[in-house]
Amino acid sequence: MKLVLLGISGAGKGTQAKILAGQYNLKHISTGDILRDHMERKTPIGLEIQHIMDTGNLVSDELIISIVKDIISSPQCEDGYILDGFPRTLEQAKALSKIDDIDKAIYIKVEDEVIIERLTGRLVCPNCGQMYHKINFPPKKPNICDICGSPLVQREDDKAETVKKRVKVFHDLTEPIIGYYREIGKLIEVNGKGDVNEINNEINEALKKISKA
Ligand code: AMP
Repeated sequence: MKLVLLGISGAGKGTQAKILAGQYNLKHISTGDILRDHMERKTPIGLEIQHIMDTGNLVSDELIISIVKDIISSPQCEDGYILDGFPRTLEQAKALSKIDDIDKAIYIKVEDEVIIERLTGRLVCPNCGQMYHKINFPPKKPNICDICGSPLVQREDDKAETVKKRVKVFHDLTEPIIGYYREIGKLIEVNGKGDVNEINNEINEALKKISKA
């Protein structure tokens, strides 16, 4: 199975992508994680995109399309994959259609206010990657990772002004993709307000209907 997860940053794409990857034995491809890894390793790509990422803008279509093309054409994606964070522009969606025929695009829908509250409260452990939320899922000791004891940080792009910018970028550049997948009959829409298991059940029900059809 080849799936795309659509939704504004903070809609829960990453969480659902990890669960679905386990349930359907898919390779999880998070373009945000790939780009952050480049920044951490200070590769030429990482140095080039640092400012773009920190200000909540999108890296160029050309760069991200070539990164994704390489991964999905590699043996690790032979059994299927789930794309999380790609495509993010109509250009990227059309490029993906030329590279491969995906089965479904799942859109996790969440209101802007909920997203802003979720992202600006988010804390991450720079050592082990565990996520927390200041109010909804605080660490046991303030600002310290429960798992490895490292001090927690706020991602540069989770700061209030950048989050607002990311929300605007989503509406301006990414939302048109939803219409694109609807028109070609590949869109599944789920409500991203419920808890993780409810959303996962809703996605699985929709995927089951398709495999029966
Ligand atoms: P995410 O972790 O998915 O919220 O992505 C973090 C940042 O990575 C975004 O705000 C963009 O700067 C960049 N990014 C991730 N995926 C893409 C993409 N498909 N196209 C352009 N920029 C991307």
